[in-house]
Amino acid sequence: MSLLTVNENGLYCKQGDFYIDPWRPVKIALITHGHSDHMRWGMQHYICHHHTVPILKLRLGGEQSVQGVHYHESFDINGVCISFHPAGHIIGSAQIRLAYNGEVWVFTGDYKLESDGVSEPFELVTCDHFISECTFGLPIYQFPGHAKVYSDINAWWRSNAQEGFNTVLYGYSLGKAQNILAHVDQSIGEIYLHGAVANVNEVLSDAGYDFPGIRMSSGIDRPKMEGALIIAPPSANDSPWVKKLKPYREAMCSGWMQLRGARRRRSVDKGFPLSDHCDWNQLNTAVQNTGASHIYLTHGYEANFARWVSERYNIRSSVLQTLYNDEMEGEE
Ligand SMILES: [Zn+2]
Ligand SMILES: [Zn+2]
Repeated sequence: MSLLTVNENGLYCKQGDFYIDPWRPVKIALITHGHSDHMRWGMQHYICHHHTVPILKLRLGGEQSVQGVHYHESFDINGVCISFHPAGHIIGSAQIRLAYNGEVWVFTGDYKLESDGVSEPFELVTCDHFISECTFGLPIYQFPGHAKVYSDINAWWRSNAQEGFNTVLYGYSLGKAQNILAHVDQSIGEIYLHGAVANVNEVLSDAGYDFPGIRMSSGIDRPKMEGALIIAPPSANDSPWVKKLKPYREAMCSGWMQLRGARRRRSVDKGFPLSDHCDWNQLNTAVQNTGASHIYLTHGYEANFARWVSERYNIRSSVLQTLYNDEMEGEE
């Protein structure tokens, strides 16, 4: 019998009677990270990494019953030994390791192998059964290194500022926004934040993180802004809110920007292929290195990637149908 299976509520451990990242209300939910497809409302009790706790309270309300754990701290539920390990996806993101009866299972949640310089870098956890996301599980998705992308972003901001334009960068308010803020060259100009980004930064400061940027509030004199950088969530694209920042140039920061068509659909001036997920090469590295004899694939191009893994590496692989979804452009 499998230690982890999928039922109508989510990824379920029958032996422990708990769920990981469930999509329907359950008693005990282990949460890999704070993105909305993994951390949903209505669980009786949440268990997540310490740095996910303030994010959970911001997004789901302060009255939630939530318990924070450290990476590598192991605890027991009905004989199942559980520990959280860095996933390198966003602040507080974790892979969850379960051990029972001499068998080890790892669920990655969302993850990436390249360190973003902000979240705790991915840790390889050896296991027998490896459940991996594969959001970018096609060979066309091969991302440039982050250092290259940030140097392109800084160069673009600098030239926009010299030509008298503000620069608007769209990136998911949790994860992408903090990574951008940690890598932009603050000597170029002022940095302003959409409220959604400022809210996340504020709760992360309780966890010891410090990001630059001024919250855009009604007191900010927008016509006086010149050559500034504004960080906003993708939902602000094409909104009345952003139009008040004119004159500006705008860019989307997302792994999907690797494909030109995605950029055109968003009608932004530029796309930077900056992702918090594994690209094709990183996925291939991960599935070969855990030592797992069985690999399960979730959200993304799971059927294609499962076939690839079994044919190429001769590792048993299957698809797990879940409701995780990072398909929204810019929202991964
Ligand atoms: Zn995520
Ligand atoms: Zn996800």
